[in-house]
Amino acid sequence: MNRQCSKIGKCNLFSGELEIPEDSRIRYKYFYCLGEETCWSSCKRFIVKDEIGFCPDFVMPNSLLSSEQIMSRIRWAKVGN
Ligand code: SF4
Repeated sequence: MNRQCSKIGKCNLFSGELEIPEDSRIRYKYFYCLGEETCWSSCKRFIVKDEIGFCPDFVMPNSLLSSEQIMSRIRWAKVGN
């Protein structure tokens, strides 16, 4: 059993590239990224990356958006550009 998320090396949240408050990043890291498998496997960023191969920066680990809603936002953003 992994003691930390297998996506740590490729996650913009973990690497500090997302503009979020530092205290939020620390909470996410300790609760999700460095937690038990039941924690990181429930991270929405982990789930979305598993499903579609990447995770947009607007998705936080505790996001309540469904994968369909996230995909819809991605499509909308592409149309808007
Ligand atoms: S934010 Fe989620 S996907 Fe990223 S390293 Fe942490 S647990 Fe893994």
